[in-house]
Amino acid sequence: MTSTALRLSEARTPLAVLESVFGYPAFRGDQRQIIDHVVAGGDALVLMPTGGGKSLCYQIPSLVRGGVGVVVSPLIALMKDQVDALAAVGVRASFLNSTQGPDERREVERALAAGEVDLLYMAPERVTVPATAELLDRLPVSLFAIDEAHCVSQWGHDFRPDYLALSMLHERWPSVPRIALTATATAATAAEIRQRLQLQQARTFVASFDRPNIQYRIEPKNQPVQQLLQLIRTEHPGDAGIVYCLSRASVEKTAAALAEHGIPALPYHAGLDARTRADHQSRFLREDGVVMVATIAFGMGIDKPDVRFVAHLDLPKSVEGYYQETGRAGRDGLPSTAWLAYGLQDVVQLRQMIDRSEGDATYKRRMSQHLDAMLALCETVECRRVQLLAYFGQQSTPCGNCDTCLAPPESFDGTIPAQKLLSTIVRLERERRQRYGAGQLIDILLGKRTPRVEQLGHADLATFGIGAELGEQEWRGVVRQLLAQGLLAVHGDGYGTLVITEASAEVLTGGRIVRLRREVARPTRSARRSAPADLPAAAGPLFERLRAWRGATARALGAPAYIVFGDATLRGIALTTPTTLDELGQISGVGAKKLEQFGGAVLAIVRGEEPPAAVAGDDAPADHEPALVPAYDVPPDDEFDPPPPDDRY
Ligand code: ADP
Ligand code: ZN
Repeated sequence: MTSTALRLSEARTPLAVLESVFGYPAFRGDQRQIIDHVVAGGDALVLMPTGGGKSLCYQIPSLVRGGVGVVVSPLIALMKDQVDALAAVGVRASFLNSTQGPDERREVERALAAGEVDLLYMAPERVTVPATAELLDRLPVSLFAIDEAHCVSQWGHDFRPDYLALSMLHERWPSVPRIALTATATAATAAEIRQRLQLQQARTFVASFDRPNIQYRIEPKNQPVQQLLQLIRTEHPGDAGIVYCLSRASVEKTAAALAEHGIPALPYHAGLDARTRADHQSRFLREDGVVMVATIAFGMGIDKPDVRFVAHLDLPKSVEGYYQETGRAGRDGLPSTAWLAYGLQDVVQLRQMIDRSEGDATYKRRMSQHLDAMLALCETVECRRVQLLAYFGQQSTPCGNCDTCLAPPESFDGTIPAQKLLSTIVRLERERRQRYGAGQLIDILLGKRTPRVEQLGHADLATFGIGAELGEQEWRGVVRQLLAQGLLAVHGDGYGTLVITEASAEVLTGGRIVRLRREVARPTRSARRSAPADLPAAAGPLFERLRAWRGATARALGAPAYIVFGDATLRGIALTTPTTLDELGQISGVGAKKLEQFGGAVLAIVRGEEPPAAVAGDDAPADHEPALVPAYDVPPDDEFDPPPPDDRY
């Protein structure tokens, strides 16, 4: 038994495990209460934002209770990294999934029977098959953790039918505590989780959903790639980031454009073959400063802590999805950016997608509600964070760290422009039985004699040229905002034409004032180096040397850099320049095992010496070959190839 394992078996209180194993001095938020509750055998439902610290809420109770903690986790592609990260702090974790051959599986089963495994990761489809249940019957199971529990909910955005069968856990092992965790916090989702997982008796813990280190910004989309380049170059050079696009085609185009400009960008979407996806995901996790350009097929379960920005080049379909995706930035608590560019075309496109989808009326209504909430967030003149948190039922005050707080938009009385636009639509409809999209309407208002205007005779309309007081961009803003306010709608004809709504009538008759947001120059952070923001200049060089050592060490170990140490820990070392192992051990993120393994090298770097060369462990491949891992698990000994998650859009 290694000294770390010894210390682990002695460290039986939650706080002792937190300190000696994970190297953290204190619990965050509700972690302490949640852990105590589960240690005492209680069931729990934990709603906590991404990066809030959910993993410790089941890892520590499992270590304290003893036996095997069974973690149900949806994506087998990430299990190896989860297990490696635990191994790096001296916790004995394993997984069972279809990437393993029969020998490897037998070895895990042997280790389980011998009491050598603290945490066991499995996908839902495996937990619920009889062979697994019989295996678990023979083990002292300390708890069941159901991660990403919103996958059981159809209201949410990641529904996985396999989660429905998890209610069997309670029926088969009624005395084993269960803890379900999710970062999706709407009341509807929580109620569905409680009911479907039979957690009616569980204590619910709702954390604050605020992520104060993330700066939220939403701006109109003009030249999206240029805007994105500007963001990366001025605020995030050399940083890891995720760029979300709606379609596979725009993922490919955007990744290529970034790469052309010297940014290490990789595409990821369900249309790529499994090996390419695994390779790109692995490089994103393992190399420093890679930008992943992806559809929403990418990201669930990615717990890389140093993602410094999440950019959306298209409008997300719901606030829930948006908050989960942006939440992948800054899990380490350091300043990060969530940036969204959206345009009129996005609204039209999403409305069309809803209209054309095969779902029934209830489904379409639900999707429309999601889109309306997203639009309201985009067009708000109030603090973005206040609005986001309100969506999750939490009250807050203006945050000072979002675009509307930093550069408050002016609002103006837009009733007259709105009337001009709406009456153009009405005239075309009544006088010519015609409907058009925003482009033609704006040309008419601006009095542009384009070939199309001439051909259709639109110069004869009474509203031709009456909108010269605004420019084209501003008119697009007016259209967007009227759509967001429900004063304009996209017709269901599939062509993206615009029609008035019941509420528009009031505007046309002068019975309703329309407030609009005037676009203001957008705030940007000043340019900075790739080190985390707010690091004093003097600590910069040491931080960079630590980072270079970490990169080399991670490569030698074939592990992601953050498994060695997170940015927040490197930052702590650069700021406090420890000279002894004791001092180093006080820094957050330095636990017993890492102190033992890396302490000497880190102290050498702090002294300004060359650290000893990183040595690869026995099991570390010299060149990291990404494992070919399907996203979902396959039931044991089944050759069936699971379909990739659907992300046609
Ligand atoms: P979640 O699963 O909720 O998204 P994680 O469990 O991955 O979040 O935790 C996010 C980050 O915060 C991780 O890097 C984790 O090590 C760190 N962390 C969690 N709890 C604490 C704590 N009490 N003190 C310091 N860091 C913590
Ligand atoms: Zn704000």
